[in-house]
Amino acid sequence: MRYDAVVIGAGLPGLLAAWKLAEGRFRVAVLERGTIASESSALAAGHIPQESTSPANLAVLLRTRAIIDELDRVTGGMVRFHVVGGLQIATSQDGGSALRARVDLAARLGVAGEYLDPDLIASRWPNLRTDDLAGGYYTATDGFVFSQTLSVTLAGMARNAGAEIWEGCAVDRLTVDRGRVSGVVTAGHHVLAPRVLVAAGAWSATLLARSSIFLPTKSFVLQALIVVGDHGGLRFMSEFEAGHYVMPRSPATLLLGLPPSDIGVDVDRFSRHPDPTTATRWLELLQRRVPALREARVAGGWAGVLASTPDAWPLVGRFGPEGLFVATGFGGGGVQRLATAEAVAQLMLDQEPFYDIRAQEALRFEGYDDTPFEFREGPFYYTETAATQLW
Ligand SMILES: Cc1cc2nc3c(=O)[nH]c(=O)nc-3n(C[C@H](O)[C@H](O)[C@H](O)COP(=O)(O)OP(=O)(O)OC[C@H]3O[C@@H](n4cnc5c(N)ncnc54)[C@H](O)[C@@H]3O)c2cc1C
Repeated sequence: MRYDAVVIGAGLPGLLAAWKLAEGRFRVAVLERGTIASESSALAAGHIPQESTSPANLAVLLRTRAIIDELDRVTGGMVRFHVVGGLQIATSQDGGSALRARVDLAARLGVAGEYLDPDLIASRWPNLRTDDLAGGYYTATDGFVFSQTLSVTLAGMARNAGAEIWEGCAVDRLTVDRGRVSGVVTAGHHVLAPRVLVAAGAWSATLLARSSIFLPTKSFVLQALIVVGDHGGLRFMSEFEAGHYVMPRSPATLLLGLPPSDIGVDVDRFSRHPDPTTATRWLELLQRRVPALREARVAGGWAGVLASTPDAWPLVGRFGPEGLFVATGFGGGGVQRLATAEAVAQLMLDQEPFYDIRAQEALRFEGYDDTPFEFREGPFYYTETAATQLW
């Protein structure tokens, strides 16, 4: 079996890259050890901000939205971008100042964010308790997508363009011949390809370590709870200090997203079910903020494992031996940063990426030797700050 490119992992980035590679007339196979989107890509809240203080990140967010709109058109409305705005609130003076500073930074990139003082928040969000707030930040154009629908649609687009998607097909290792990638080994078969894209989510690092290629990522867990109760039309809201957020799912249900936990967890042994004691604690915190939810209950939830990098930016583009590409390290922002995978596909096709990938290019960690580093990932809607000395 010989392909122009093999993609490892049928999560969101792997599927988008496969679609774009197949459109570029590559013979491409996606090798997925489970089923399409069988890990985090189907578990996401799907939040896609349309604001950032980084030009590269903003380009990615806007392109992600454009891809979703294109898919929505071609599928007759299946992949809707639901605009719910984005309110972030802070309880500390430092938090309030950080949100105020963001307005100016975002304005420099032409993004209209609004700083809100507590009285204004109280008048516009009467269902929120505001007496402990220092301030808030609001953007009107943020939205969300149902990430499972998006994943399945991308798989359809990839197949339709000619890509093969092999489910139940775990890749054991890469093969490298005289410093060049020559393919992958799966279930005893050698699949030949001069270009391999590793998009295996939190498993990317362990997979590559088997070939002595070290990716600077650290695993962690994100949990989501489904809260049932009349939330009075609450839209997307996040808390700056505590790090949780709510996303409306229906008039009577909310997704309550928790901040990162279980940092450094073994990616093959994490719990996929939120712990009930933790769930109760976060529900109580939400009920204090939204008194109308006092009778609400947690009706379920789930947890997914993710990988974050030393500077909390993703890892995209070339890495290691010639012919190897990565699209991973998205942390809790792989839906919103979906478009980065299009840029990786462009590189693989020897085209110019649609945005300046330098800040996110995996090669910034060339020579990384598996030294431990500090976990810096914030909730996914935070703006990243690039650190200079990372390990
Ligand atoms: C609760 C929760 C809420 C989230 N909310 C948001 C949000 O609101 N906005 C946002 O932008 N992001 C959000 N995310 C993050 C987002 O889901 C991820 O960043 C994104 O899905 C990562 O995609 P991925 O393809 O890298 O990883 P995954 O979706 O985990 O996919 C990796 C795939 O690789 C496969 N694989 C692994 N090893 C192998 C192997 N050896 N051979 C073959 N296949 C292999 C796996 O089976 C899996 O299907 C959230 C995540 C969670 C868990």
